[in-house]
Amino acid sequence: MKIKINISSDILIKPIMAEAILETGVLLNISQAHFDRSHGEVVADVDEDKYELMMKSLTNKGAVVTQLDTPIKWDENECVECSACVSVCPTKVFSLDEDFNLKVDETKCIQCGTCVDMCPHNALSLGNNK
Ligand code: SF4
Ligand code: SF4
Repeated sequence: MKIKINISSDILIKPIMAEAILETGVLLNISQAHFDRSHGEVVADVDEDKYELMMKSLTNKGAVVTQLDTPIKWDENECVECSACVSVCPTKVFSLDEDFNLKVDETKCIQCGTCVDMCPHNALSLGNNK
């Protein structure tokens, strides 16, 4: 399952992810990471049956962990196939087939919200985890 780990500025210098992995023995497969002076944000996959263990360990160290279980919703009826979403999605959820029809692979979505803001026809929406 995909999770997002938010790390606030006051604990940014601490190696909390490494500590959590060592403490729990649970591996994280990191697919996205962004750090700046104000915060850190990491998207990773973790085995579903190990989620609680990892979540508790990271939370005890001050991180905020969110399950990314409400991926992008595409309203095909509203879509005008402008392909604006294809270029902005960081995880390649959108693609065009040989007939230039939009294809959507929701399983790759990390719920960043970028495409929702870009879509000119309100064909894309996210759940509560945006
Ligand atoms: S940006 Fe919106 S309207 Fe354009 S192709 Fe993507 S979903 Fe369709
Ligand atoms: S929310 Fe982000 S990751 Fe998900 S489809 Fe849109 S741009 Fe891609």
